[in-house]
Amino acid sequence: MSSLLEIENVTRLFQTGEETVSALKGIDLRIDSGELVAIVGASGSGKSTLMNILGCLDQPTAGDYRVGGHSVAGLSADELAALRREHFGFIFQRYHLLGTLNSADNVAMPAVYAGIDSVTRRERANLLLERLGLGERIDHRPGQLSGGQQQRVSIARALMNGGRIILADEPTGALDSKSGETVLEILKELHRDGHTVIMVTHDMEVASHADRIIEIRDGLVLSDKRCREPVVDAPLPSFLNSDSVGVLAGFHRRVAEAFPMAVRSMAAHRVRTFLTMLGIIIGIAAVVSVVGLGEGTRQRVLAEISELGASTLSIFPGHGWDDERAESITSLVVADAEVLSAQNYIDSVTPLVSTSTRIRLGRTTMSANVDGVGEDYFRVNGLRIVLGTGFSADSIAERRQEAVIEERAASTLFPGDESPLGKVIMIDRVPVVIIGTVAQRSGMSGKTLQIYLPYTAVTGRLLGAATSLAGLTVRISDDVDTIVAERAIVGLLTRRHGTQDFFVFNSDQLRRIMEKTSQTMTLLISSVAVISLIVGGIGVMNIMLVSVTERTREIGLRMAVGARRIDIMLQFLIEAVTICIAGSFLGVGLALGAAIAFGGQGSQFPMIISFDAILSACLVALLIGLVFGFLPARNASRLDPVDALSRE
Ligand code: ADP
Ligand code: MG
Repeated sequence: MSSLLEIENVTRLFQTGEETVSALKGIDLRIDSGELVAIVGASGSGKSTLMNILGCLDQPTAGDYRVGGHSVAGLSADELAALRREHFGFIFQRYHLLGTLNSADNVAMPAVYAGIDSVTRRERANLLLERLGLGERIDHRPGQLSGGQQQRVSIARALMNGGRIILADEPTGALDSKSGETVLEILKELHRDGHTVIMVTHDMEVASHADRIIEIRDGLVLSDKRCREPVVDAPLPSFLNSDSVGVLAGFHRRVAEAFPMAVRSMAAHRVRTFLTMLGIIIGIAAVVSVVGLGEGTRQRVLAEISELGASTLSIFPGHGWDDERAESITSLVVADAEVLSAQNYIDSVTPLVSTSTRIRLGRTTMSANVDGVGEDYFRVNGLRIVLGTGFSADSIAERRQEAVIEERAASTLFPGDESPLGKVIMIDRVPVVIIGTVAQRSGMSGKTLQIYLPYTAVTGRLLGAATSLAGLTVRISDDVDTIVAERAIVGLLTRRHGTQDFFVFNSDQLRRIMEKTSQTMTLLISSVAVISLIVGGIGVMNIMLVSVTERTREIGLRMAVGARRIDIMLQFLIEAVTICIAGSFLGVGLALGAAIAFGGQGSQFPMIISFDAILSACLVALLIGLVFGFLPARNASRLDPVDALSRE
């Protein structure tokens, strides 16, 4: 019959720089189920190396090691992890408890990786702690426990998944003699219960409690003495029931386990976590609010365009907006407007006339630009009435001598607090009464004062009907197709002028230009946003790399108790994702706050933050977490357990 553990001519070499250290030089060993074995030897003789190989934390350089008759050679990292999880329980000289977890959570950890649910875990951890006399210390952190108590917690952890084979490397080495005796008693009791116990010690007094003492020196077995016969195969209560879950359920469970771990480790470094998040917060807040601003502006302009109506055309002299000769083209006249308004497919025509003239108020004369406009002009051009009113339909129809003046003109003509409303100014010997003031046209500068009159008043009283127009706004009848009407108008005017010396602009074109500009803007902003988020992501990656380095021993411990590579990977990946998602929530919150504070209905910065924008922000954050968390997480998952455990 084969033994429980069989080591056959095992060697283990370590490569340190140029030098090759031979820690084990060909060891043969058989350990049966139910034995209590002490491995003794001087420091540096290879005891820990042997223990690591026995516990499947490390693999021999040469020779064969069989657990229950099966060779471990060629097993993958995860298969070795499964062996550790299901059969071995480790007790370390320095306990290796996680400082951020309480006793119960430390004890329960191996069961997390065995896929046991949290209630069962908690119950069993409490039971084990009570059995080891720590019933009162279940919620204490390692820092609040004495060395002996910590070692008992670590024994409970070794038993969590069953721990058929207990491996204890200098379990009493860091303890005072009294605590050492307690620990030794517990190990002997476990042995009586049927556990196979293998302990390493350099203390012969401790070793004398064992049934069998194996002495090694310089990587070779020096002596192997059996003092008592082993308890033969005492039955062990079976607890383990792992890996019965499917792949998907397993994944789900791992995420569910990793999330609270991530939150806990974030909470342990609050300031650092917040600073890491800051890049993501700022990036996401900037993107969301700028996209919101773009959308708000776009919708406002589109609303203004649609107020104009789809069936409105504007006609201007020249060949396009950038035609410099347009000023000298005088063929567009009031008579054109009259002919057009007589067409049955046209609802109404509003000419736009423009002239430079002198105005007089009391004794002062100044030059000003006078535009004759229709009733919709201010609304359609997005000019806000500041005081008084704009022109009514009656003002236009009755050629009223009314004026709306620009704010700057108002402050020039009426300095101080004097209200311009109701005042009369002379425009080229025609008196007009001021009925309102209007906001400055954005982008316009210069010293000329800007004054608006009903176009009927300008053509009828100031300039005469033969004057050339700055433009025409044509409203097409409701039941007429805009394109057909446009073609008819172009035909008609071309015939009247003898050539097409004008161009037509409809609100569809305006909308298209608008959409195109907003697309370009969005693209531009998005690329800036992507850059800022990449910077944020690099920050996250940086901190995660630091975190992995800081927590190398934790990673080693988790691997020792049976965590798979994917478990470690997920833990760190989920931590990175959690940081990013939390950052994106804060960023979205910030943007929403800004939208509420500055982006209300009538504000200068309309902001519309859609649900889609929020959702995409969170998805982008998720992606950043995955991409930039991947490298640190992979580094963590590829650590060697023995190496990681011994890291300071
Ligand atoms: P013990 O536990 O008996 O004190 P170890 O098994 O820890 O001894 O070490 C045995 C020998 O192997 C020592 O000379 C030690 O320096 C060497 N050794 C152990 N681990 C490593 C390692 N990871 N890299 C290089 N040398 C090592
Ligand atoms: Mg050692």
